[in-house]
Amino acid sequence: MLQLDSHPTGRHFLQIPGPSPVPDRILRAMSLPTIDHRGPEFGTLGRQVLTGIRKIFKTQHPVIIYPASGTGAWEAALSNTLSPGDHVLMYETGHFASLWQKMATRLGISTEFLAFNGTDEHLPQAAGWRRGVQADLIEARLRKDTEKKIKAVCVVHNETSTGVTSDIASVRRAIDAAGHPALLMVDSISGLASADFRHDEWGVDVTISGSQKGLMLPPGISFNAISPRALEAMKSAKLPRSFWAWDEIVEMNKDGYWPYTPNTNLLYGLSEALDMILGEGLDNVFARHQRWAAGVRAAVNAWGLPIQCADPAVYSPVLTGVITPEGVDADAVRRLIHQRFDLSLGTGLGKLKGRMFRMGHLGDSNDLTLVAMVAGVEMGLKLSGVKLAGSGVQATMDYFAGHAAPAALQKAA
Ligand code: PLP
Repeated sequence: MLQLDSHPTGRHFLQIPGPSPVPDRILRAMSLPTIDHRGPEFGTLGRQVLTGIRKIFKTQHPVIIYPASGTGAWEAALSNTLSPGDHVLMYETGHFASLWQKMATRLGISTEFLAFNGTDEHLPQAAGWRRGVQADLIEARLRKDTEKKIKAVCVVHNETSTGVTSDIASVRRAIDAAGHPALLMVDSISGLASADFRHDEWGVDVTISGSQKGLMLPPGISFNAISPRALEAMKSAKLPRSFWAWDEIVEMNKDGYWPYTPNTNLLYGLSEALDMILGEGLDNVFARHQRWAAGVRAAVNAWGLPIQCADPAVYSPVLTGVITPEGVDADAVRRLIHQRFDLSLGTGLGKLKGRMFRMGHLGDSNDLTLVAMVAGVEMGLKLSGVKLAGSGVQATMDYFAGHAAPAALQKAA
């Protein structure tokens, strides 16, 4: 058996913004014996998870479950709806938006990458990576497209590389205001089941998500929630696809089966996750994440360090990015914290390499886990010679003590 001798005692603190810690209840559910994926019992499991997951996306329409990571579901969204040479509008919010744009280009799609056009005092090289999508830029661009050449608008809901969310409803309003028929595709890989998301109400045509973040599952399954318009677009879309093709999957999913071998044990886990999340109630789940995020941000403010997200209106409830002072290598700080305190933090990705680290506060967590995370980070920053304005641990404790969780989230006396 694999020995992880770097974690000698106690639980490792997995505080990256996904994969997030998997609750014991889900691990136990996944340990059931694997069953025949074409046998009679499987259809019941399949139908159950395919119905339950629609409630998480807030959609009445099909949600596809792929045995693949989120990157696969990105490709599925593009290849099912677009044709070679089609023009799409994407928006640069960070590393994941950039990777999706790179993928679209590789698939033979012509991409236009909109970005924030202002400046930034802390990160001049990545000013747009501190803010969410500006829907007015999208609207202005669509209005100019009088020939309706733009086939889709693609945005990231929760940019995991930065800790910035985007207002998806405002993007839908922008598309409608321009009277444009483009499809709206949204990556909510790290937003789903932690941050408010409404596939149908916000008029999203394809939502892409994954298992390893708010759903509290291990990595390995991913999703496409699809609108009737997206299904219609599929009929004329000419990009090559086979494994990802929606039509066969949607057909077989009606009875709870897949055209190929699905990820059975992860589906057991998904069934358990749905019970947990829907049992708690999505609004409670969102409120819990907002409260945790505010508690963690209190620490960063007390340290006197800049939060990666420069716009408080779009702070992520899932993670908080922290910019380290000029000359302090954020990855060296992360390595030290991992070595000394068995705590994993997210690295700065792409343009942010070495300039920031990310603290995850999602899924199977609680106040005290987060106080411990903040303590680990505070010790690591001090050991790295960073001058802190005050105690983040105290600020987080004060926040949690002073802002009791809603009654629904407290243990019964
Ligand atoms: N999009 C976002 C917003 C992500 O956070 C990630 C992964 O963290 C991806 C896409 C890529 O997903 P995966 O690594 O599961 O392929």
